[in-house]
Order: sequence, then structure tokens, then C-alpha cells
Amino acid sequence: MSSPDLTEAEVQAVLNVLSTPTLSIGPQLERFERKVAEYIGVAHSAAVSSGTAGLHLCTIAAGVQNGNRVLTTPFSFIASANCILYEQATPIFIDVDPLTGCINPDLVRECARDLAEGSQAARCWLPPSMRVSARLDVRPRMILPVHAFGQPADMDAIMAVARVHDMPVIEDACEAIGSEYKGRKAGSFGDAAVFAFYPNKQITTGEGGMIVTSRAIWNDHFRSLRNQGRDVFDRWLNHTRLGYNYRMDEMSAALGLAQMGRLEELLEKRRRVAALYTERLAESELIRTPFIHPNTTRMSWFVYVVRIIPPAMRDSVIVELSRRGIPSRPYFTPIHLQPFYAEKFGYSKGNFPVTEYLGEVSLALPFSGVMTEAQIDFVCRALMEATEMTAM
Ligand SMILES: *Cc1c(COP(=O)(O)O)cnc(C)c1O
Repeated sequence: MSSPDLTEAEVQAVLNVLSTPTLSIGPQLERFERKVAEYIGVAHSAAVSSGTAGLHLCTIAAGVQNGNRVLTTPFSFIASANCILYEQATPIFIDVDPLTGCINPDLVRECARDLAEGSQAARCWLPPSMRVSARLDVRPRMILPVHAFGQPADMDAIMAVARVHDMPVIEDACEAIGSEYKGRKAGSFGDAAVFAFYPNKQITTGEGGMIVTSRAIWNDHFRSLRNQGRDVFDRWLNHTRLGYNYRMDEMSAALGLAQMGRLEELLEKRRRVAALYTERLAESELIRTPFIHPNTTRMSWFVYVVRIIPPAMRDSVIVELSRRGIPSRPYFTPIHLQPFYAEKFGYSKGNFPVTEYLGEVSLALPFSGVMTEAQIDFVCRALMEATEMTAM
């Protein structure tokens, strides 16, 4: 489905680390952190072992605790909701905008108001299994929007709701390094944001993630939490709080630093592949190419996801593509319908119709910056034939 884009520069960067005595907590980490913070335009950054680890630490820093409620989207990769459960809080899912697939800010505003007022209207926002018995006078504690597929959520609207109700905002920017919303970089809006560097992301460290924030106190907190709860002034085996081992090693940081040096090139190569796909698929009646909102002044392409209309056709198209040796995936499968969430919270089909519709029509195609034009042509021809065959 994807392929990392690595050169001799990256290989050398990793090998160089291996001939030094410092394989963790060293100079590569600091340099990588500085580079990302400068690129995003925020004061601080803390590298961690994965995007998921970063989201978990942000949830802790935001003060989310047992029984709290966090507004987020069900149209995402499961980690954006799991980080809320790690702290025994409840994700309050809010349906998405049908065009962008990002959280619908009008619904965020209504939900925050109803929950803050604690009126009977609050009930319908709660998960089905909590609707009858849960307390209503519980204010929401945080908003966690996701920049789905790399496209920024409507951050002005979301930040406005957050200000009214005094809630921190954590951006899940794991798919969006380099994206811009109204001329400003994704990851620079919330109280903190998280990027991820798994091999299918725009840049990779193998496994890894980065938290960015302009809050100095949060940054100290992240550094302590990722390092077993030690404070900077703690002696080695003194642990001030409950922490984790969420550190990023030096080899990963060196790889990330080298990839950051080529970020513009990597984003441009992905943009070119996306543009070729869109051009080739534009004429098909059965395939909708991605919608880019006018507020997305720069799109950083994480995946290339088309919509197969009508929805009933999508799964047969996957089978037909696979028969021709082309992998493709449904993307995303709605979080509320994942077995664990459906069982724990009583969700079923119909709870979030827009998310479910997108979950049924969306098809991620093979995508990476190293795809050749011939490969793109091959996929496009196969996809058009597969949809026409299935439609008959
Ligand atoms: C990749 C991703 C993450 C984090 O992934 P890790 O594999 O833990 O690095 C979180 N949220 C979204 C939306 C993602 O795509």
C-alpha cells in the first residue's frame, strides 16, 4: 500500500549513530526536536516512541481523568480514541463533515453547549450504554480533532468553541505534517499537537512520534512522562510521577532528522502522485476523487482515498483489484463500530451516519512518493475497469 522514501543520506545518518556510544537520549533527539518545532513554528517539541504514545501524553497533560468526557471524531485511526480510554475517560463521538471527513464544528458547538448546560439534551450525545444512567452535569474536558487523511479540521471554529468552554485542544496531526489551514501549519493551533512517523507516513523514523506545543510547562511534563516520570532535576532513579518508557532512540531520531531535511521534496513527490491520480480518475462517474477544502491552503498527502459510488460496490472493487495484484483498503473503518467500542459503549450502525457512509464508500489506493507514472496508470486503469465491471 505504501513505501518509505529513503536515500543514502538516511542510511548514513543511522549508521553514524551506531558508531557512537550514545544510542538513546542523545544529540540526534535534540536536533530532530528543534527541527520539527522550527518547521511548525512552535516553541517546544518532544519526540516519543509513537504517535499513539504522543496522544496519550497529551491527554494526561490536558488533565483528562477518570470519568471525564472528551469530544472527538469516530472517523479516524483508532489511536485517537484509545488515548482517551487509557485515562479512563469517555470519548464523546461527534459526526464529521461529509466533504472533508473531519469533525463537524457545528455539531461540536452544539454538543459542548448541551454537555456544559447538563440539560436533557446532553443525553443524546452520550454513548448508548451511558444514556440512561450517566450524570448529566459533567462538563466536557477536552477536544481532540483529527486532520483526516492530512486535511486540517476547521480549526478556527473548533478553537472558538474551546475558548467559550475553557477546554484544551489536542490536534491529532499524525497524518498532516506540512498541511496548512488558512496559511498556517497544522499542529500550530491547539494546546499541543502530535505527528507520527510510522513507515507509511509522510516522513518516517520506523516507529516514532513528535508532540509540539507552545506551553513550556506541558513540554516539561511530556519530557518527564516519556522518561519514567523523572523530572529534569531528579537523580537517575528518582521518579516524581507515574511515567512511561515512551522515549525515541537515537537511530530513529537521526533518520527523522535526515527525512526532515528532505521534507519539501517528499511532500512534493506525494503531491505529484496525488495530482496524477486525480487527473487520470477525473472522468469516471463511479469514482469520486478527494475533495480539498478552500481552507486547506496546502495539502500534505498522507493517503489517496477515493469514494466508490454507490457504496455497495466498494468491497467487490477491492476483490477485483486484489485479483489483479493491486492492494487497496477500506479507510477508515468507523471507530464506534470497532468490536471493542461497539461492545463497551453499545454503539451500532446508524449512530453516526456520515462517518458510516464515508466508511462504506472510501477506498485507499496504493500511495507513496516513489510511485512511477506507469504504476499510477496501471492502478487507475484497473480501478476504472473494476468499477465498471462491478456496476454492470
Ligand atoms: C498514524 C496515526 C496515529 C498514530 O500512529 P502510531 O502508529 O502510533 O505512530 C494516530 N492517529 C492517526 C489519525 C494516525 O493516522
